Amino acid sequence: MSKRIGLCAVCVAGSLMVGCASIAPVSAEHMPVETKPVEVERDNLALTYEGRGIVTQYIGDNGPTVLIIGGIHGSEPEGLAPALALIKEMRAEELAVRAVVVEDMNPDGSVKLSRYNSRGVDLNRNWPASNFSPGFRHGEEPLSEIETAHCFALIQEIEPELVIVLHSIHSGPFVNYDGPALSYAEAFATAADIADRSRNWRLQADMGYPTPGSIGSYVGEDLGIPILTIEFDRGHEEGGAAAALLAGVRASIGELIAGR
Ligand SMILES: [Zn+2]
Repeated sequence: MSKRIGLCAVCVAGSLMVGCASIAPVSAEHMPVETKPVEVERDNLALTYEGRGIVTQYIGDNGPTVLIIGGIHGSEPEGLAPALALIKEMRAEELAVRAVVVEDMNPDGSVKLSRYNSRGVDLNRNWPASNFSPGFRHGEEPLSEIETAHCFALIQEIEPELVIVLHSIHSGPFVNYDGPALSYAEAFATAADIADRSRNWRLQADMGYPTPGSIGSYVGEDLGIPILTIEFDRGHEEGGAAAALLAGVRASIGELIAGR
C-alpha cells in the first residue's frame, strides 16, 4: 500500500483533519499516483509535531538517485504544486535515475504559510553543517527537529548523487547551488528559461547572505554532493513553475547521466 493511501485512511479517521483540509485541493492530482502502488519502507513514513505526514515518493529504480525536496520553507508554496506535477510526469516515463521526491518537508509550516516549522525553527538552518550556528530559529543543536532528522536519515539511506531543493524568493526565479553543481545549475537554468518563457531564469552563484546550517552547506559543501537551490519567483504562476521544474529536472538528470 502506498504511503499516500495510508495517509488518506488516517484522514478519513478524522485525526488529521486540519492537515487534510490543507492538502485537499491537490488530492485529485494524486489519483494517478495512487493507482500505481509504490513500495515504501515504513521507516520513511514520518509525522511532524502536529501529526502531518512528510510524504516521500519513489519513482523509477534505474541508475543514480536524485533527491528532490519541496516545502522546506512553508511561506514559499510556489514549488509544492509543481513538485506534484513533476511526480505525475516522471511516473509516466522511463527514468534513467531513481527519483525520490519529498513532497513537502514542512507541512506544518505550509498550512500557516510560515517559513518555520511548528516549533519556530527554520528547517534550512538545522542541518549538521560545519557552519551550523545554534539559536532559537536554528535549533539548539543540528537535527533537533523531526523534519530535518527525517530527511537527514533519508539522505543517508538513499545516497543521492544530486539533490534539488525548492524555494521561492522575491528576486527569483534563479538557480543557486552548492558543492560541485555548476554544470547542473547551468543545465537547469537554461532549460527552465526555455520552458518558462514568461520569466527570466538565471544562475546565481551566491544567495547574498549567510546560510549557516543549511542543507546546501551540509550536502554541498561538507559532503561534496551537488545540490541545487531552486528559487521560484514569489507568486510564480503554477503552470510556468511546473514547466520550469520539469524541464530543469530533466536537464539535470541528463547532465548526471552524461557525466557517469
Ligand atoms: Zn526558502
